[in-house]
Amino acid sequence: MNRAAIACLVFVCAAVVGRAYAQQDFSQVQMKSTHVAGNVYMLEGAGGNIGVSVGPDGILIVDDQFAPLADKIRASLKKLGEGKLKFVLNTHWHNDHTGGNEEFGPEAPIIAHDNVRKRLATEQKVFGRVFPPSPKEALPVITFDHSLAVHFNGEEIRAMHYPHGHTDGDSIIFFTGSNVVHMGDDFFSGMFPFVDLDSGGDVEGLTKNIEDVIKKLPAGVKIIPGHGPVSTIDDLKLYHRMLVETTGVVRKRMSEGKTLNQIKAEGLPDAWKSWGNGFIKTDQWIELIHRSLSK
Ligand SMILES: [Zn+2]
Repeated sequence: MNRAAIACLVFVCAAVVGRAYAQQDFSQVQMKSTHVAGNVYMLEGAGGNIGVSVGPDGILIVDDQFAPLADKIRASLKKLGEGKLKFVLNTHWHNDHTGGNEEFGPEAPIIAHDNVRKRLATEQKVFGRVFPPSPKEALPVITFDHSLAVHFNGEEIRAMHYPHGHTDGDSIIFFTGSNVVHMGDDFFSGMFPFVDLDSGGDVEGLTKNIEDVIKKLPAGVKIIPGHGPVSTIDDLKLYHRMLVETTGVVRKRMSEGKTLNQIKAEGLPDAWKSWGNGFIKTDQWIELIHRSLSK
């Protein structure tokens, strides 16, 4: 697939549509709420999954989808608890995770990794597509380098930065008391991931990050992926195996001197066939791995 086609895919699947969301129709989107464990819920609408902590201290959200969905998100939060929105965490800068910042920023402080603020505050380019700087109210006001904890609703909610995975500003959020983790877009459950090489993402870095997270996760943990259903450690281990095996296949063929087109024509092992039914098709995944390994 050429760059223009990938840029088109990125637009269509709203992975990073910048402020072009105005062209999308959100009127038919319905929010779905799922209790994950302990204080934590997951909201699905359009864009990345939203994690919610609900309890006596109020409400904290992880990611906020798109600005035009803000009222629907508010209505869903109200059904979960009467408390006020106190904090917003962003897992990374992509607009399908931070588009609601301009709506929620005036209500509660936004917290994110340093690179999320840097990227939101400046023009970004993904596959030649330009994303203008976000307005001031959409920018994180508390940023961190390595990790940060919010002590909220009786538990420590820890955001940990993992470098060069999906982007260069990814955080994974550990709800330590509820035994829930929000992985952001480092985890697309059951499907090939989008890796934003233009924003500092890296396929091998992502694989290493996932390996590290698997070692850290306690037994029985429930996992909120950036995209896909609530998952388990076994789902994450399978995702890790997919990353290792598919990257290995492409690396081996590259070392044999095969071209990208030859590698695509040979495809990936059948075991991963259904993984190409999500955002990223098999050819696109091979291309992302090839481009990442060629850097
Ligand atoms: Zn993303």
